[in-house]
Amino acid sequence: MKTIKERDREVIWHPYTPMKIWPEAIAIVKGEGVYLIDEDGDRYIDAISSWWVTLHGHSHPYIGQKVSEQLAVLEHSIFAGFTHEPAVALAERLLEILPKGMKKIFYSDNGSTAIEVAIKMALQYWNNKGAGKKKLVAIENAYHGDTFGAMAVSGRSIFTDAFTDFLFDVSFIPFPGKGREEESLKALEQLLQQGEVAAFIMEPLVQGSAGMCMYRPKVLEQYFQLCKKYDALIIDDEVMTGFGRTGPLFACDHITTSPDIVCLSKGLTGGSMPMGITATTQKIFDAFYDDDRMKTLYHGHSFTGNPTICAAALASLDLLLLESCTESRNRIATAHTAFATTINDHPLIAEVRQTGTIIAIELRTDVPSYHNAMRDVMYRFFLEKKIIMRPLGNIIYLIPPYCISDADLNYIYDCIRELLNQLRA
Ligand SMILES: *Cc1c(COP(=O)(O)O)cnc(C)c1O
Repeated sequence: MKTIKERDREVIWHPYTPMKIWPEAIAIVKGEGVYLIDEDGDRYIDAISSWWVTLHGHSHPYIGQKVSEQLAVLEHSIFAGFTHEPAVALAERLLEILPKGMKKIFYSDNGSTAIEVAIKMALQYWNNKGAGKKKLVAIENAYHGDTFGAMAVSGRSIFTDAFTDFLFDVSFIPFPGKGREEESLKALEQLLQQGEVAAFIMEPLVQGSAGMCMYRPKVLEQYFQLCKKYDALIIDDEVMTGFGRTGPLFACDHITTSPDIVCLSKGLTGGSMPMGITATTQKIFDAFYDDDRMKTLYHGHSFTGNPTICAAALASLDLLLLESCTESRNRIATAHTAFATTINDHPLIAEVRQTGTIIAIELRTDVPSYHNAMRDVMYRFFLEKKIIMRPLGNIIYLIPPYCISDADLNYIYDCIRELLNQLRA
């Protein structure tokens, strides 16, 4: 009989995977808390929350129970002209915790679609109002997803190379890293002054795919204030940072100015099922609220507002809002900070950075790219240690599920130290 891996080879095309070069996939048969368990019974610590989605651990019994209850009652229903309790309840509960000013919830399927909806809302908002604002501004090296609109507002990279000719024009401002804050703010202001900017989109405080690149809340606050001053919409992409990753529930909770549109996905269902949300204000909603049908937002996906997935999101929210979850996030953040001080001056390290439960270690290298040869060496090192950690080029990072134990965190830290000493030798 063929193994899962062998059958996989014959029929599956994996995401982000050079299929000819990469070794066979590891077949996972069970998830349990912070662990993914393969067909040989090996237990892997999921240090990156399975691509940044898992919040409370794998196969959480409470989420499973709520999902199976919902499945038995109403698994799915059309969402145009019809509604249901799970979708309404989830919107109500999210609006209670989202940044102030958020009044309406639009459902879609994943992070990229949440971004597509945000871009369409922003562009059509100005169109409906008869204003000629058509420009979008983003931050260099941003990542907002893999669909065409999301790619257009993302940095041009090896991910987008084949499609550059087909992406609409977007203005990029410099990343506001240490010492470049003023330059970045000035670039944004200059673009805004031209009066044509429809919206500014950013990953708040942490640019994920770019390599967990971090910037200060003060800069975010200034970005937001500039957009308000020049009347451009703010699209806050909290797809990765949402639901506590940076400490508070949302990254923009670190500041006081509110965005106009917030995009959510990844941790929304605790990582159990795919869903995207685009939340927005009354002001934006009202620009579409009209007798003129041309002002409608003509967008929707087959599974929009799926009740089973809403039930998963509601269950995840229950867990997220427990005092114990806040404590776990604080515990992880404190452990990261203590670990950072022990490796900070290692000769191989260019920078250690941290925001809340996310820590990134950038190694010195002459080839700082996603294709850095160190990447594969490090990836294999961690796999041998039974840790799932996919370096972003020369950058190692952790974004663990909140249920990770101190023992497992310490084990990962020890392995990182061992790797550093091994690379140095
Ligand atoms: C992952 C990600 C997306 C895209 O989400 P998908 O569900 O993978 O389509 C968008 N924005 C940010 C900041 C992300 O990290």
